[in-house]
Amino acid sequence: RQAKDSYISTFPESQTRYEEALEVMPGGNTRSVLFTAPFPVFMKKGKGNRLWDCDGNEYLDLVGELTAGLYGHSHPRLRQALLSAYDTTGISLGATTTEEMRFARLICGRFPSIEHIRFCNSGTEANLYALSVARRVTGKRKVIAFDGGYHGGVLGFAHGVGENNVDPGDWVLGEYNNVENAKNLIQDTPEVAAVIVEAMQGAGGCIPASLEFLKTVQDAAASRGVIFILDEVMTSRLHPTGLQGKYALKPDLTTLGKYLGGGLAFGAFGGRRSLLSAYDPRLATSLAHSGTFNNNSLAMSCGYVGLSEIYTAERATELNALGDSFRESLQDVARGTKLVVTGIGAVMNIHFMSNGQAPACAADLEAHSVSGLKKLFWYWSLSKGFWITERGMMSIILDTEKSELDTFVEAVKGF
Ligand code: PLP
Repeated sequence: RQAKDSYISTFPESQTRYEEALEVMPGGNTRSVLFTAPFPVFMKKGKGNRLWDCDGNEYLDLVGELTAGLYGHSHPRLRQALLSAYDTTGISLGATTTEEMRFARLICGRFPSIEHIRFCNSGTEANLYALSVARRVTGKRKVIAFDGGYHGGVLGFAHGVGENNVDPGDWVLGEYNNVENAKNLIQDTPEVAAVIVEAMQGAGGCIPASLEFLKTVQDAAASRGVIFILDEVMTSRLHPTGLQGKYALKPDLTTLGKYLGGGLAFGAFGGRRSLLSAYDPRLATSLAHSGTFNNNSLAMSCGYVGLSEIYTAERATELNALGDSFRESLQDVARGTKLVVTGIGAVMNIHFMSNGQAPACAADLEAHSVSGLKKLFWYWSLSKGFWITERGMMSIILDTEKSELDTFVEAVKGF
């Protein structure tokens, strides 16, 4: 109650703007994940890893746009790439361009299993297209996903398969990190086209999969001719070659998004050449894939510059090592308390668990999360100048200094 009152009195301008927003948007909101009661903080601007809200408060940005903001706000090199693309190419030419070819070659070179790729505008779309490929190739419809998984706005499984899912009748949900369950489902479910999995559940609480679980999914899928889709929309930044490289996985299809567009709207799906041919327009039987902005020059150019010049393999290794040591420091400070940090590299989630144990699946979270503490922690973080998500997720922006992260670790001692 006290934390909430203090929140309300700290953000009067946000409250006013929220009330105006309520007149034109349901809940004053157009991205459900960003809604926070009693009203959200309205952010005014960002620079590097700093944010300022419309009431004049400054924050260290630990949200990092839920991993898509890897490069930080207004990165000078990306600003240059963006303006140069705008001035010299134009945004979208209604034609095939060199920029898309160049970017496609770069991504195929970086992620080992991607031989052919196609672009779209979001991770959600990427997964929908990947599912279409799997259905076309197998002639089957059902898809196995895992409880707590998130593959997009209409492909979320935090609460099982619900009305919000496309084709709800076609989904079969397995238990994340349960090897036997995954093997049996893939082997025994009739009419399965694909199994889709995150190597670390992102929105589900930054819960890493065990290597055994991932290999089991891969092997069981291969043995039954089920298409193995690895959703790397969030995880491709966690290793120079994505988590598929880190764990030596060979998915049939991979989906990408977020930071890879250099800060602009972006999605992509790729994989084995023979599978991607489902979208080869030279073939009479090809599926249609024609998004207006799929190859827009801004995302193609910024994405290319970001991946080739800024988030090089060395920087990816460096950033994720920094993230590992940050998580360890946080966990050290919290030892013996209910606060538990899960994640990989520079992407993580704070949980409050009654058993003090890291959750391995959605059911663990359900059984042991201490209600209310996360919200308190969130109020408290904001009041100390740290921008984190209400659900406890954080991702570190490139060029964030260890000393800045240390200030958060020090502050957590006072919670
Ligand atoms: N897949 C995963 C693993 C994600 O984390 C997300 C977004 O958070 C998506 C897909 C959907 O991406 P987008 O928000 O670009 O539609």
